[in-house]
Amino acid sequence: MAEHLYAVVPFCPHCGRRAESFRLLCERGGPAPGKAALCNQCGTWSVWDDDMDLRPPTIEELDVLDNDNEARGILREWGIDWVRRHLPPKRMQ
Ligand SMILES: [Zn+2]
Repeated sequence: MAEHLYAVVPFCPHCGRRAESFRLLCERGGPAPGKAALCNQCGTWSVWDDDMDLRPPTIEELDVLDNDNEARGILREWGIDWVRRHLPPKRMQ
């Protein structure tokens, strides 16, 4: 999957937390204005603006993401990770 982890990021515009990393939707290299990034903390999409800050996506951008197979795959992977992190550990039998 064409995905990169990017270590130096601004705050997530949705949850306000500074994520350790964002999952980027990257067809062509690293983060760039107009590209989408998924917050690893809250699992919502943001879009890089011209100053390389993250802003919430527009409705139109969300529609594009909803129909993008790569974006859906990244979101699905994030959901599976989230469940794994939040499920209680299995008891030893
Ligand atoms: Zn967030």
